[in-house]
Amino acid sequence: MRFASLGSGSKGNASLVSAGETLLMVDCGFSLRETERRMARLGVQVEDLDAILVTHEHTDHSSGVAKLSRKYRIPVYLTHGTYGSGRCSECHQVHCFNCEDEFSIGSIAVKAIAVPHDAREPCQYRFSSAGRSLGILTDLGSITAHVIDHYQNCNGLILEFNHDLKMLMDGAYPPQLKRRVGGDWGHLNNQQAIELLQHLASDALSHLVVAHVSEKNNARYLVEQLLQPLECLPSSIVWAEQAAGFEWLDLV
Ligand SMILES: [Zn+2]
Ligand SMILES: [Zn+2]
Repeated sequence: MRFASLGSGSKGNASLVSAGETLLMVDCGFSLRETERRMARLGVQVEDLDAILVTHEHTDHSSGVAKLSRKYRIPVYLTHGTYGSGRCSECHQVHCFNCEDEFSIGSIAVKAIAVPHDAREPCQYRFSSAGRSLGILTDLGSITAHVIDHYQNCNGLILEFNHDLKMLMDGAYPPQLKRRVGGDWGHLNNQQAIELLQHLASDALSHLVVAHVSEKNNARYLVEQLLQPLECLPSSIVWAEQAAGFEWLDLV
């Protein structure tokens, strides 16, 4: 199994997961042209996508889904609640599921996991194929026992390090937005991400991706300072960037 990102952050998200002949996209928060351009950069064609899976209806994850799905006739998988938001209602073919459902697309097994986030029925995903497992875990405001349970022993983990709490609180966001982002249904701050990582790190984890990083309320050196003292860090730590995403990573 291998995975890559077209871009990550509050201006747009899309990830790719591939195993054998199967190619999945998770979220699409980019325009049609931008998605085509960014996929080409990763050496794959939109025509090769077997499905788009959506995590929730926020624009940075959903704005490009319907157009991409219609133009290339790609089926879309999402929770009933996310579908009910209306943001993905014009898709080519819709498969609704409940959080916690498990299903397979081609050679990839998919598990949807409920997360605390301020959307209708947000979920994140864990993918498995041929004994390897990738967890995608962004857009959650707090750590739940449920999340800790379901992301054990991943080989790859895309984890949200959204903001530094002090930068957020001292920054220019209006008070209401500060409360939303920093709240239990918002986004993980660096300390929370580290705490979660300590629950999830294991010998199995070979690739960690630092993702959904705020361009205004975070800094790379702050995350690095927190990661450095940790024991049991994976050998590969990669940054998912808003403009560049990250290149293909192999889970062998
Ligand atoms: Zn987001
Ligand atoms: Zn969100």
